Amino acid sequence: MVKCDLCKEKVQKTFLGKLLGTFIKSSDGVQKVVCSSCQRSFSSSLRDELDK
Ligand SMILES: [Zn+2]
Repeated sequence: MVKCDLCKEKVQKTFLGKLLGTFIKSSDGVQKVVCSSCQRSFSSSLRDELDK
């Protein structure tokens, strides 16, 4: 099970098993998962949010 690194909610998957979210590498090189709704609400500041 994959959880969003911003809202800590479970990231939904499509029926094909594709994650409804995105993988983003933070500045310290850690791969983070962001769900589609966080992606929408933070858009360009996503990376800043992940670095908090
Ligand atoms: Zn989220």
